[in-house]
Amino acid sequence: MKSEVARAAAWDCAVVGAGAAGLVAALFAARGGARTIVLEAKEKPGAKIRISGGGRCNVLPSVVELADFHTSGSTHALRNVFATWPLERVREFFEDELGLALYVEPDTGKVFPKSDDAGEVLERLLAALHGAGARLECGAKLARLERLDPAASDARATTEVAPGSRPRFRLSADDGREFLARTVILATGGLSVPKTGSDGHGLALARELGHALVPTHPALVPLFSADPRFAGLSGIALRVRLTAKRGDRELETRENDFLFTHKGFSGPVVLDLSRHVTAPDASGVRLCAHWLGEHRVDYDELLRRGGKKTVGGLLREELPRRLVAVLCARAGVDPERKASELSRERRQALLRELVDCELPLAGDDGYRTAEATAGGVALEELVTKSLESRRVPGLYLCGEIVDVVGRIGGFNFLWAWVSGRLAGRSAASASLLASES
Ligand SMILES: Cc1cc2nc3c(=O)[nH]c(=O)nc-3n(C[C@H](O)[C@H](O)[C@H](O)COP(=O)(O)OP(=O)(O)OC[C@H]3O[C@@H](n4cnc5c(N)ncnc54)[C@H](O)[C@@H]3O)c2cc1C
Repeated sequence: MKSEVARAAAWDCAVVGAGAAGLVAALFAARGGARTIVLEAKEKPGAKIRISGGGRCNVLPSVVELADFHTSGSTHALRNVFATWPLERVREFFEDELGLALYVEPDTGKVFPKSDDAGEVLERLLAALHGAGARLECGAKLARLERLDPAASDARATTEVAPGSRPRFRLSADDGREFLARTVILATGGLSVPKTGSDGHGLALARELGHALVPTHPALVPLFSADPRFAGLSGIALRVRLTAKRGDRELETRENDFLFTHKGFSGPVVLDLSRHVTAPDASGVRLCAHWLGEHRVDYDELLRRGGKKTVGGLLREELPRRLVAVLCARAGVDPERKASELSRERRQALLRELVDCELPLAGDDGYRTAEATAGGVALEELVTKSLESRRVPGLYLCGEIVDVVGRIGGFNFLWAWVSGRLAGRSAASASLLASES
């Protein structure tokens, strides 16, 4: 073992994971003067960047506020991290420094590359990374991360380490290769879409090193319907105000596009609120829909003043025909009945279906398709001005491995870029300080 370590290369900074967060972390570590290596488990870097935004990569949002993110930790800490790299500066970084032309999609405010090609985002990041002198090792899955005792003989055995700048970590890849580093950045992502490489292994490593984890669960995930009548509406899209409630308490309300699928419910508004019902403590949590309709009418008034018009006729002016049929059936109302003949009780039942319709849920699509992971390494485990671990000096964490999740619209990449840059800069400063001491 000793001889293998002696042959191992020593680095100022080793970044684990060449996803969005890891690539930016490595770029800024290298720009900060640190000799930097990136270890990536897959044969190619940035798999999730490539498939993001339907192959177009929604790089950023055009507007951001703290409410676009969720963490079980301190929102104050989160604000401090985002303050290190304001949205406009991040955009300038992509446009001016990486030369990536961007545009804002008018309807959604999402920012995409002008080429509409996620591959270009990755290529520009990789070019910058190489330009900064960082090395990328693909097919190197980190199997073990050990802290080295500075006084230990095997750490000193490394001939490539300058005096006074001993490595603090030994990283062992699953193919037997070993790397020594003064600082390590864990950017291994969460659990969503594991075929892209984020299989939760990094979370297990973080736990082994003593970090508290907030329980993980799928976020931004399509939901299944328990009522086959809804599943029969596949393909219908409409504007909905969706509220997550526990009892009568509103947890979160958002208005956006809603999509019926052959299995249930999707679309941005469903994805955004899905984490409430996938959470381990989700018992008693409901998602309730207000189907907004064409003219955003007051349905109570519409039905009261409907007179001789049929209930179905009135509602079909606002909502898709097939949805009207299902809502009437669920409320026990004959759509061909005149509005004036509706009993108070039936009108109330129908109104509930129209403005406070509890979605009948039967699970979710899981990590297979979830666009993000909620939970992860607790923010409290990190020093927020540097993203250094409070448990393991010299170790930094960024991106989806941390308990921060954004909503649909470029927010998760924004977190990856901002936290990656902060971790990279901090690790570079720390490793250079160590080499001077
Ligand atoms: C289908 C899909 C579409 C999306 N579209 C968007 C979008 O348009 N806009 C947006 O903002 N967000 C989007 N997201 C979310 C966004 O992609 C993620 O939040 C973001 O990529 C997280 O970056 P990360 O670097 O933290 O993790 P990841 O991108 O998951 O990268 C982690 C990397 O670490 C590597 N790794 C893991 N374990 C090890 C190990 N032990 N050793 C070495 N390497 C390891 C993995 O192989 C992987 O390359 C999408 C997600 C999905 C699944």
